Amino acid sequence: MRERWRHWVVAKHRERWDRRLRMSEIDCIFCQIVAGDLDAEVVHDEEEVLAFRDINGRAPMHVLVIPKRHVANLEGIGDLSDVVAKRLFEVASLVAEKHGVVESGYAVRINNGDDAGQAIPHLHLHVIGGERLGMP
Ligand code: 5GP
Ligand code: ZN
Repeated sequence: MRERWRHWVVAKHRERWDRRLRMSEIDCIFCQIVAGDLDAEVVHDEEEVLAFRDINGRAPMHVLVIPKRHVANLEGIGDLSDVVAKRLFEVASLVAEKHGVVESGYAVRINNGDDAGQAIPHLHLHVIGGERLGMP
């Protein structure tokens, strides 16, 4: 009996957790862009990775590269395959090439969590260039 109770508790907990995960994806602006429910200026589109212009670009080139699968931040990167995790950086490089900034240089930045100012909890690489950049 106690074993059945334990199973019930675990199942309920999992159900609630799954629901919360699904909710975060429904509310997620970047998931809406992936689904085509929200417009974006897409610069690169492939099976697992999408790149589009930042709506509030802060440099001549400011593109966001995201995994299509919802992952909130770097702590969730284990949920992506190694291929996709690597592909994010390859696409960042492709985007830079497309914009002709490989020679002049560019920055790839991930804001992770509150202190970094992460506003959208869907992992994304900022690819920024086209002018002299400072740190941070
Ligand atoms: P974070 O601060 O999370 O690292 O960066 C989020 C970025 O997403 C910001 O630079 C912001 O301008 C951009 N952003 C927010 N909402 C939208 C949107 O609806 N469309 C696009 N293309 N970019 C967005
Ligand atoms: Zn998302």
